[in-house]
Amino acid sequence: MLENKNTSLTPLSTIGEFPLIKHLTKKFSLDPSLDTECGIGDDSAVLSKREHPTLVSSDLLIENIHFDLSYVPLKHLGYKAIMVNLSDIFAMNGTPTQVLVNIAVSNRFTLEALEELYEGIALACKRYKVDLIGGDTSSATKGLTLSITVLGTAKKENIAYRKGAKKNDLLVVSGDIGAAYMGLQVLEREKEVFKVNPKSQPDLSPYTYCIERQLKPEARKDVIDLLEKLKIVPTSMIDISDGLSSECIHLCKSSKVGCRLYEEKIPMDPEMLRTCDELSIPNMTAAFQGGEDYELLFTINPSDYEKIKDNPLVSVIGHITDENEGYYWVTGLGQSIELEAQGWDALKK
Ligand code: ADP
Ligand code: MG
Repeated sequence: MLENKNTSLTPLSTIGEFPLIKHLTKKFSLDPSLDTECGIGDDSAVLSKREHPTLVSSDLLIENIHFDLSYVPLKHLGYKAIMVNLSDIFAMNGTPTQVLVNIAVSNRFTLEALEELYEGIALACKRYKVDLIGGDTSSATKGLTLSITVLGTAKKENIAYRKGAKKNDLLVVSGDIGAAYMGLQVLEREKEVFKVNPKSQPDLSPYTYCIERQLKPEARKDVIDLLEKLKIVPTSMIDISDGLSSECIHLCKSSKVGCRLYEEKIPMDPEMLRTCDELSIPNMTAAFQGGEDYELLFTINPSDYEKIKDNPLVSVIGHITDENEGYYWVTGLGQSIELEAQGWDALKK
């Protein structure tokens, strides 16, 4: 191996994922003759400016970075890998239609193991009505890597970008937040216990909801269907893969606005709150910084408030402000605290 003597080289750990993407792609511009409506910077790209554009997005899942097979069953992994991708199409207010699945596997895996993975993929495709249309397969020196690309469609006027939020719009989130992160904490804790005492029989029944949120998330097709039924087109939308705080800041930065969130409005499940107490993790840390909820965060025009205010699928958690008012959350005691995007940053952990 050649030794690297150049001390001016930049370690990736000093950059962070999003600045890196920005840096690597800054010299690329869209060729007008190719009719790409939206490239880098949203949950999915939007191909074509015409009435029914195609949406496309892809995601990479790497063993021991994104999942740990010591507690993730392969069938669940296959299911979740599809959900993660569908979620990016729903985040554009679109309908997913096809997926391509690329896998790289080491010889540690058997045919039966991959069959299990594909059982999960098949179940997800069937439930969400998407076709598996291709992919690629390779051997790998180590571990398992999954890369999935999803295609979808939407009516042009219904597409919700990250950039459309306006001052006074209401910030809305689907479902509840932070449970997937707490599920991960419980699974990691049990893994450590198991290492010390392989005969231990963990009782995970008090954490069923959190563990299910971690291992078997559902992408929020029901929320997209609800919006259609209520005739609400969100002014902006993003899915929550990396933590509420970081996604909220992404949405605000794209829209060039600020936001105020209210602690007492953040939807959290009772089991998640109890697990936070037990593991001494502050609720708001799990809610704001924990990732993998795959809920939708969106903004609506205040005139749509009446249509959703009592709907159990969604919660209004705050509103949009001027950009110069920054990104803040207000505690139960009325104190304003700046939102921090510590969420999942692939290159810093
Ligand atoms: P999400 O969290 O919704 O999956 P990401 O945060 O991964 O989105 O990506 C943000 C944007 O950057 C997306 O538009 C994505 O397509 C783009 N992107 C991510 N990685 C790369 C890359 N290596 N080269 C070009 N574009 C990228
Ligand atoms: Mg996304």
